[in-house]
Amino acid sequence: MKVFISVDLEGIGGVVNRRHTAEEGKEYEYARRLMIEEANAAVQGAFDGGATEVVVNDSHGEMGNLLPEMLHQEAMLISGSPKPLSMVEGVQTGCQAAIFVGYHAGAGTAAAVLDHTYVSRAAHQIRINGRPAGETAINAGVCGACGAPVVMVAGDKAVAEEARALIPGVVTVAVKEGLGRLAAISLHPEKARAAIRQGAAEAVRNLQRVALFKFTSPVALEVDLLYTTMADVAELVPGVRRIGGRTVAFTHEDYITVFKAMRAILALAGTVV
Ligand SMILES: [Zn+2]
Repeated sequence: MKVFISVDLEGIGGVVNRRHTAEEGKEYEYARRLMIEEANAAVQGAFDGGATEVVVNDSHGEMGNLLPEMLHQEAMLISGSPKPLSMVEGVQTGCQAAIFVGYHAGAGTAAAVLDHTYVSRAAHQIRINGRPAGETAINAGVCGACGAPVVMVAGDKAVAEEARALIPGVVTVAVKEGLGRLAAISLHPEKARAAIRQGAAEAVRNLQRVALFKFTSPVALEVDLLYTTMADVAELVPGVRRIGGRTVAFTHEDYITVFKAMRAILALAGTVV
């Protein structure tokens, strides 16, 4: 059984601000180690739960945070960016379950550490089929389209709540609780890793408890951008409609096509202010 693990940085225990998450941040070298160890705990948990193969996708920033030598020896590592499926690249290779580690709540969530959705300098809010969608929903939709249920989400308390509201039966592990956007109370790293390992094992062992997460088709995407300039360039993408000063929309039968359109919109929007 092959298990896919997507690892972001904002939802790792102890991480609270750009000193941790930006490559030039003063605490970045330390934060990436915390990230690697939480990833390793999930890898070990997946094997404990019955996985025979594990693929880990580096999902933060330029996606080159996980130091290969420090990663669990039995896991394969996907790193670098851009990738066709971005934060969930690799899930399309016959994985039977997906795990998200280090995840954070969607842009606009209160008391959620470093809340944002994909591109913080461009996306104010993303909605799919009329409901706000954070990275958990957006990426779970890709996993679902590829045949892999999301069986566990680890991150802060806010993303754990977001995940449970979205995916019935998903195992969640909260390694910290936001006290605001840039402050949190965290478990000790050893405790966080133990909880992640245990959660991943339980989740993989019982993966049939969780249904595939799929958006009903046709899938309607709406993106509120930060500035009207961003919508000016985003509406140049063929098929994208301008539905408001700052808002663009895209609809398609196929969710993966919607996901790619979203990324094109955000990439273009991120080039202007
Ligand atoms: Zn993220």
